[in-house]
Amino acid sequence: MEMAEAETRHVLVINAGSSSVKFVLFDMGGEEVIAKGQVERVTLPGWKLDFTVRGNKKTVEGPEALNHKQALQKVFECLRADGGPLQNPGALLAIGHRVVHGGEKFSSPALINDEVKKSVRDLFLLAPLHNPPNYEGIVACEELLPGIPQVAVFDTAFHQTISKRAFLYALPFELYESDGIRRYGFHGTSHRYVAQEAARVLGREGDPSLKLITCHLGNGCSMAAVRGKTCADTTMGLTPLEGLMMGTRSGDIDPAIVFHLIREKNMAPDEVDELLNKKSGLFGLAGISSGDMRDVIEAADAGNERAQHAVQVYTYRLKKYIGAYAASLNGLDALVFTAGVGENSARIRHEGCRGLEHLGIVIDRQRNEANEQIISADRSRVTVMVIHTNEELMIARDTVAVVSIN
Ligand code: ADP
Repeated sequence: MEMAEAETRHVLVINAGSSSVKFVLFDMGGEEVIAKGQVERVTLPGWKLDFTVRGNKKTVEGPEALNHKQALQKVFECLRADGGPLQNPGALLAIGHRVVHGGEKFSSPALINDEVKKSVRDLFLLAPLHNPPNYEGIVACEELLPGIPQVAVFDTAFHQTISKRAFLYALPFELYESDGIRRYGFHGTSHRYVAQEAARVLGREGDPSLKLITCHLGNGCSMAAVRGKTCADTTMGLTPLEGLMMGTRSGDIDPAIVFHLIREKNMAPDEVDELLNKKSGLFGLAGISSGDMRDVIEAADAGNERAQHAVQVYTYRLKKYIGAYAASLNGLDALVFTAGVGENSARIRHEGCRGLEHLGIVIDRQRNEANEQIISADRSRVTVMVIHTNEELMIARDTVAVVSIN
């Protein structure tokens, strides 16, 4: 009996993107990763599944173009194979899905049913690149593993506590009412996870007065101002394009630049969309093909002026928003860096915080260089932290919580 209970603690987390399906299988008994991997080139000819089960790496590939359901079928085949972690299908408690856009409907994770699926579909309009593959992933799991509860965890949900003064754009109000044009914010699962971790490290879990700024600096970049467990503001907007400078996204620009590109450069709307989302940011400014911060820093160090400008614009904007959010929160207790750049680049953290001593932010050079968890100096009034984000674990925890109350 004990054995059977122990065996039904697995939670599978699925992140179905436009051309990839990522998964992590957790044993939620000890929050341990049993298997993880991803199918690449989904919907394109020539798929590849890389995965690790209990430390053993494997690759399976084929020439054909798989749709999302077929890609998930390959994942399940590997997990359910002889000796695989889901050989006994009863081991799977539930599936948690990352869903990018939950609109105004979802401020917390939801058990998936027909109504939830309809809402995810209704939001295709606001997240045309993300919600359709997320939805495909949900439907495929329903078909492939009928009867297993599924939970949707939304990237936007954490930001639903943001008040009107911070989420409304100064546009005709009807556009908000009729079309839902407002700030939603993204990376919410990551901001929530690191805010929770920071509160735990500071010994202030559940303290509603704790004032945090969380900086998620990956390929996509966003910041959030958080009071206790509540998000007060975030830099991404209606779409993930607004705010900080990113790998290939521009972040904030004067919207009139769009008219200039259309009228003077004869660009079509889709071309402008592509320029701002895929050809701008570090990639556009530095002219370095990957838009990868490591390459940009290396080029900047080698004397490439465009790369130097790119790093300066990136860190200046970071600093500007730290100031803005300290003002928004009426003070600051801790500043948290996370994701690829935030967790690894002492240089970006240092430059983003330089000159902010007047706000009580003082970084200790050695702690910063060593990527320690607390990188502020002892005399710093604000605790500056580096916290490894773990969106998949957060989704798995949410999934267990939702399943246990339903
Ligand atoms: P994603 O947003 O796709 O999940 P990550 O969180 O992994 O991406 O972040 C990717 C970014 O992190 C890339 O720009 C990469 O260059 C950057 N990065 C990773 N390690 C370092 C490092 N040591 N120094 C600077 N940037 C780094």
